[in-house]
Amino acid sequence: MHSKSSPLGEFDLIQRFFKAGADAMRSNKEKVIALGIGDDCALLMPVAGEEIAITSDMLIEGRHFLLGANPELLGHKALAVNLSDLAAMGAKPLGFTLAIALPKVDEVWLGTFAKGLFAIANQYSCPLIGGDTTAGPLTISITAFGSIPSGKAIRRSGAKVGDDIWISGTVGDARLTLAALRHEINLPEDDLKQIEHRMHNPTPRVELGIKIREIASAALDISDGLLGDLQHILKQSEVSAEVFLGQLPKSATLQKQSEDIQHQFAASGGDDYEICFTAPIEKRGAIDEISAALNLPLTRIGSITEKVGVIEKLSLLNKNGDLLDDVKTAALLKSFDHFAK
Ligand code: ADP
Ligand code: MG
Repeated sequence: MHSKSSPLGEFDLIQRFFKAGADAMRSNKEKVIALGIGDDCALLMPVAGEEIAITSDMLIEGRHFLLGANPELLGHKALAVNLSDLAAMGAKPLGFTLAIALPKVDEVWLGTFAKGLFAIANQYSCPLIGGDTTAGPLTISITAFGSIPSGKAIRRSGAKVGDDIWISGTVGDARLTLAALRHEINLPEDDLKQIEHRMHNPTPRVELGIKIREIASAALDISDGLLGDLQHILKQSEVSAEVFLGQLPKSATLQKQSEDIQHQFAASGGDDYEICFTAPIEKRGAIDEISAALNLPLTRIGSITEKVGVIEKLSLLNKNGDLLDDVKTAALLKSFDHFAK
């Protein structure tokens, strides 16, 4: 036991909470990780014919999670959001580094955080291979590494005119949870229980990303809102799109809300970590098979159209097939922006 008079030092802390967990997963480690925690750098040995995908995501207290958030869920989410980025390109997880700033050494907090972190790390065979630990306002920054056969990464730039637009799972529940926690919406306790895991405990669509590698023409993960994120595909692919608002997949819980709320949260809610991808129409059968194999709904929500003039336009259609006016469309396209006023 460490009393307040002999707090755990930085190196003991790393050893006890991070290196121990990483060592425990050694059996999962592939030869790709030539050296893990303990030296100045970790060493990766890339497999011939594969590219390494690298992504970072940071979680900051008060900005990405509420003060006093459950550390086990935080450990899960910090890695999940990075695995979601790997998934969006079709990469298989290899390992990750963890840079963490802690306001103080709280052993209970650290143990619980590590529990959530290593549970998901083990689930996806993605070992912790290094990091940095410092004192400061609670900040968790993870960099994840993945591997993809050379040239097979699903980029945002590959969508083609005529492609279908697909989305995995359902969208809008993380935003509905946030609305309930902020008392913007009065959500019955039972409803909140049905959906809150979508905000706190997101599932990265790693298997899906790998399975659609040979099928999707473009993909990204939905972290800032479906339609806002979809516009990144349109810009980089230099195409336009039509999306049917009525076809956005929503949970039964979200469907109890007013139509306005349903549309707003599903279209631009954010924090969903689903994969939006485009694919040629002749792949519909293959995609339905993947959906069945993964027991994960994959829903067609629209199609890629030709860019007219210089602007990549996202047109929204209501359930009667009528085009929404520009003001309504703009409201639904707004994606989350940390620097927006
Ligand atoms: P250096 O000062 O050379 O950068 P550190 O003293 O920061 O090294 O870290 C020592 C070892 O512990 C390194 O291998 C580093 O990657 C690892 N490490 C430090 N913090 C963490 C952490 N939060 N999670 C995993 N590994 C860590
Ligand atoms: Mg060093």
